[in-house]
Amino acid sequence: MLKDNYGRRFYYLRLSVTDICNFRCNYCLPDGYQCGESIAREKPLSVAEVNTVVRAFASLGTEKVRFTGGEPSLRKDLVQLIETAVNVDGIRRVAITTNGYRLASQIDAWQRAGLDQLNVSVDSLDPQRFRAITGHDKLANVLRGIDRALELGVSTKVNSVLLREHNLAGFEQFLDWVKVTPVSLRFIELMRTGDNRDFFASNHVAGRDIEKWLLHTGWELLPRGRDAGPAKEYTHPDYIGRIGLIMPYSWDFCAGCNRLRMSAQGALHLCLFAEAGIDLRSAIASGDHRDLAALIRSAVCGKSAGHQLDRGFTGATRNLAMLGG
Ligand code: SAM
Repeated sequence: MLKDNYGRRFYYLRLSVTDICNFRCNYCLPDGYQCGESIAREKPLSVAEVNTVVRAFASLGTEKVRFTGGEPSLRKDLVQLIETAVNVDGIRRVAITTNGYRLASQIDAWQRAGLDQLNVSVDSLDPQRFRAITGHDKLANVLRGIDRALELGVSTKVNSVLLREHNLAGFEQFLDWVKVTPVSLRFIELMRTGDNRDFFASNHVAGRDIEKWLLHTGWELLPRGRDAGPAKEYTHPDYIGRIGLIMPYSWDFCAGCNRLRMSAQGALHLCLFAEAGIDLRSAIASGDHRDLAALIRSAVCGKSAGHQLDRGFTGATRNLAMLGG
């Protein structure tokens, strides 16, 4: 079992499958993806390499794999990536985080391939605000994709980054939607990255203020599963859906960390805000998942107790598209 020096166990791998993103979210890639600067000139992990990575992690006790990016649906072989992960012994859940751009047209194929969890980013339910935040007039299309995923019985979570100047006014609209829609809507506290310092200063909303309001209005905290993501989830008898809060600035956030990350080029990141990744590409390319597992096991001993976001330290992370949020 994969365990670090602080007794944390890692059941959950977040695997970026591309750095490229087609959205221009104002808090992440406001100028869009810049291919000139990127390490993405190096090819992303192939299906065979992803298979080696997932087998290595599964042999160390990992039960859940999430494909993220960049935008994972830009990979033409995403169906094969899902299939390869689904077929690894020990993997119980395969998930994707997507901006929903291709969801309506692809979800049937992803579900047939074995996808069982979906996270879709929807930062506003108002079409104009959605467009202003993401640079794309695609809200209706994304919502159609979510409806189809729900029809197919795919467990669906919706991610919304709280932004004081851009979507906080739409908070009630989100609540009305959760009343009648069986999704888990997770409000993510905006994280400061190397690229968004000024934006952060004017837009950060403390998740604990939302938490106080939820508890005050009859929402109840649910217990957390061992391969669960970072959200605290709340339920309310009058609402079909749930609300989650992802609060990276809260004092106990890192103590509950059960996740490791790998970049699209095969670097292991022990924390989203670590100074650098550990390059495992040559071990991955060799195809020997046992050797790779040994390297991962020893690397995990170096995981630090927590990030230092509250002190303004953002490590090497210029934006979350580099590593998948
Ligand atoms: N393209 C996919 C998507 O849009 O969901 C996956 C990658 S995206 C980087 C993953 C998640 O990180 C999204 O929900 C996004 O809103 C979130 N994210 C990006 N930058 C963030 C930031 N600075 N603070 C908090 N969440 C952020």
